[in-house]
Amino acid sequence: MFQRKIVIAGNWKMHKNAAETVAFLEELKKSGRDLGASCEVMVAPTFTSLEAGVKAAKGSNICVSAQNVHWEDKGAFTGEISGPMLNEVGVTHVIIGHSERRQYFGETDLTVNKRIKAAIRHNLIPVFCLGETLEEREAGSTFQVVKRQLVEGLGDCAPESAEKLIVAYEPVWAIGTGKTASPEQAQEVHAFLRLELAEYRGVDFANKVRILYGGSVKPDNTRELMSCPDIDGGLVGGASLKVDDFLGIIEQAS
Ligand code: PEP
Repeated sequence: MFQRKIVIAGNWKMHKNAAETVAFLEELKKSGRDLGASCEVMVAPTFTSLEAGVKAAKGSNICVSAQNVHWEDKGAFTGEISGPMLNEVGVTHVIIGHSERRQYFGETDLTVNKRIKAAIRHNLIPVFCLGETLEEREAGSTFQVVKRQLVEGLGDCAPESAEKLIVAYEPVWAIGTGKTASPEQAQEVHAFLRLELAEYRGVDFANKVRILYGGSVKPDNTRELMSCPDIDGGLVGGASLKVDDFLGIIEQAS
């Protein structure tokens, strides 16, 4: 039986400026909880808040993540940010392939693959998001869709160890909608993804990769979701913006 350390990750999207980021992290640190003892805690502020976030998180076990990375190190790519730039700021993780990027910004499996490779090249842990839409679930194609996203997103990338890859299953119909996948629905997909990861890199690797669930995670549904054998944490949007809710999730997951 493999012990995978639970990850609770907050995706702040386009919320919180630098001052609000610092205030949140100071409050989180002051909570007196031994953050990071029983689970890994991560927050993903906006680009302009990353530097302040990294400084504020110093001396704690809180990891700071970016929300995107470009595949080139520099060049004419207006509005993008590169791995070396994120390294300079000091973040450790980067969210890649979030459904909002796929839906509004033309992210595809191919660009996700290039971004994951760039993250690995620059020693950033990719938090690789995938998940089906409501139409795809209702059409019975959930497994086919997540398999395609996983296989094409990972492609030929080579994380040196399973700890260097985090996958986040986020059914699009559950993101920001208040609808959570039932623990059974989520577990079924997580188990499937782990089998596919075993095909990609072997059982040992697959057993060590953390697969997070995302989609309306709150303190009151965390325990049930996290008790599923293949759910190794949560990627949390709305409920990660308030310290009390975020702490509640960390507590329930621990
Ligand atoms: C997300 O955006 O990754 C997410 C899961 O959002 P929410 O928790 O608000 O559904």
